[in-house]
Amino acid sequence: MTTHASAPSSAPPRLFAEGSPIVDSKAPEAPLAEKWDTRRFEAGLVSPANRRRRSVIIVGTGLAGASAAATLGEAGYRVTSFCYQDSARRAHSIAAQGGINAAKDYRNDGDSIHRLFYDTIKGGDYRSRESNVYRLAQVSAAIIDQAVAQGVPFAREYGGLLDTRSFGGVQVSRTFYARGQTGQQLLLGAYQAQQRQVAAGTVTIHARHEMLDLVVVNGRARGVIVRDLVTGEIETQLADAVVLATGGYSNVFYLSTNAMGSNVTATWRAHRKGALFANPCFTQIHPTCIPVSGDYQSKLTLMSESLRNDGRIWVPKDAGDEREPGAIPEEERDYYLERQYPAFGNLVPRDVASRAAKEVCDAGRGVGPGGRGVYLDLGDVIERLGRAAVAEKYGNLFDMYQRITGEDPWQRPMRIYPAVHYTMGGLWVDYDLESTVPGLFVIGEANFSDHGANRLGASALMQGLADGYFVLPITLAHYLSEHPAEADLDGSHPDVAAAAEAAQLRLDTLLEVGGQRSVDSFHRQLGGIMWEKCGMERSAAGLQEALGEVRALREEFWSDLRITGRAEELNQALERAGRVADFFELAELMCIDALHREESCGGHFRVESQTEDGEALRDDERFAYVAAWEYAGAGRPPVLHREELRYEAVEMKQRSYT
Ligand SMILES: Cc1cc2nc3c(=O)[nH]c(=O)nc-3n(C[C@H](O)[C@H](O)[C@H](O)COP(=O)(O)OP(=O)(O)OC[C@H]3O[C@@H](n4cnc5c(N)ncnc54)[C@H](O)[C@@H]3O)c2cc1C
Repeated sequence: MTTHASAPSSAPPRLFAEGSPIVDSKAPEAPLAEKWDTRRFEAGLVSPANRRRRSVIIVGTGLAGASAAATLGEAGYRVTSFCYQDSARRAHSIAAQGGINAAKDYRNDGDSIHRLFYDTIKGGDYRSRESNVYRLAQVSAAIIDQAVAQGVPFAREYGGLLDTRSFGGVQVSRTFYARGQTGQQLLLGAYQAQQRQVAAGTVTIHARHEMLDLVVVNGRARGVIVRDLVTGEIETQLADAVVLATGGYSNVFYLSTNAMGSNVTATWRAHRKGALFANPCFTQIHPTCIPVSGDYQSKLTLMSESLRNDGRIWVPKDAGDEREPGAIPEEERDYYLERQYPAFGNLVPRDVASRAAKEVCDAGRGVGPGGRGVYLDLGDVIERLGRAAVAEKYGNLFDMYQRITGEDPWQRPMRIYPAVHYTMGGLWVDYDLESTVPGLFVIGEANFSDHGANRLGASALMQGLADGYFVLPITLAHYLSEHPAEADLDGSHPDVAAAAEAAQLRLDTLLEVGGQRSVDSFHRQLGGIMWEKCGMERSAAGLQEALGEVRALREEFWSDLRITGRAEELNQALERAGRVADFFELAELMCIDALHREESCGGHFRVESQTEDGEALRDDERFAYVAAWEYAGAGRPPVLHREELRYEAVEMKQRSYT
């Protein structure tokens, strides 16, 4: 094992240790377009009569988890699902607004499976795996058919065909939508399919239960330790396989567009039990969010990217221009995205649009309080199509903006600024979506699989549903077919009992700290460090500082945290404390990952690695790999396993959207 430390005495402690390379051994040797068919044919099957004897735990009831539960339940497996919300249908997926991509090419505008595949690889700045992304593009069309069959009310054109619109980073219209509530409508479809299985007795849902640990027995994932959030009781659930569909970890930044409860606990606990965590520093900053309005804000609101179809983004040409937007004449406005990127204009990918907004604000041309905003102006389209037509497409987004800001977007342009939104990193999975812990599968935003260093808009819903409806049911069946049901396992097994005791001990330890500071004050401070130093722009010096600050704050957390109440009751401060404790550990790994990746790619922008025009400059010679991190124990440097990325169907190029 080699280390990356430089000098012995005065050098900082080593950041990480080098591990052996990791490879995906599950994608079959076949031409790219035939890999998935080949895998499906080669995968083992479980006969219908045997399925009712096989059990699966699914943690998460968002689009990924609900679609998986519905499909596995329909197939006849015994599924037990968990979520921490009071209802499965309140999973964070419900917040998704703008749409879902699919290579249907209804518009005959040049779309195809290959183009969706290509756009996704390029959009991700050549840091995702070809085989997974190609399969995603192949499966995309079937998702729309499935949703339509469930009655999801996608927008339609006059002729009856489903309507589409464009999202960033593409030049075709492949995004299907249901006004600005696509996630909600898709989730209702998946949820009702899941509820059908609840009625049929194949799926059991435990709402208000939080997974606190993974149970690993004889090297295989065999269950979870959960806490009943109402009674505080610690419970053990065992099964033949475990699926994590627990969403992303953007809330490590405290302020993000994610639901307040979104957290990393399930995947982080699995990481500590042996699952590698891939590319943790790849986070997405979304360009069109309502700007921060005060120190005590705890949540940011997204204005859907779909608004960039018709909205024009601009700032005044002159720094310090404080006139009302309507008083600034056309020739004194800088439509900077249209100027810098004429081919894609306002629809450049999110990482590019976010950095451009930061740049104009840094130059003193930002608008609104603190100069941290740019205008998203729909004046042209309102004039061209009329208010009714615009309201039809974006009405709920206009209402939402007005309610939050108190400003009328029909009268003056919206103000937007980038905010943390999505995490491309997550648990490492192979082509079968199986982690490095056998029997532990990871789907949806919780895995790292398809989006490389930058996710294209409307591709998360596509991935979550592709994983849950179409991929997992095949690959999980293969796993079960290869691992026949073992003799009964129960809570008395030493590994199971130890996991339950450790979970209880951790809660007790949190309660016993007995300090003065609230969980939220620690979380806010942690988020501030991460946003400033591991956010939209990262430097070696800033990341080193962040590492030190995160470690110091974590120590303070474990000595000065104050939680009132008990573990044997509803205790939201205790719930949040457990999540924040895990965010601290994750934050450290994110900084190490960002520090070791001395290149810019997608959402990971290292100031030391940029082109003359200030664009992200990759270093394919040194960094064309997935960084998969192994947990080496408390206080020990993590171990880096590299998965080399090989491109056969696309050529790695410097991205250009000009
Ligand atoms: C405001 C907003 C708008 C978006 N709009 C779009 C869009 O238009 N198009 C698009 O493609 N993407 C969009 N996205 C991204 C997309 O919504 C998410 O990536 C996607 O919904 C994630 O789905 P998921 O099923 O993986 O996880 P989630 O929907 O986040 O579900 C996670 C589930 O896991 C459960 N869970 C988590 N941890 C635990 C635990 N420890 N114990 C028990 N249960 C647990 C939760 O209860 C929940 O049920 C948007 C995101 C945001 C924030």
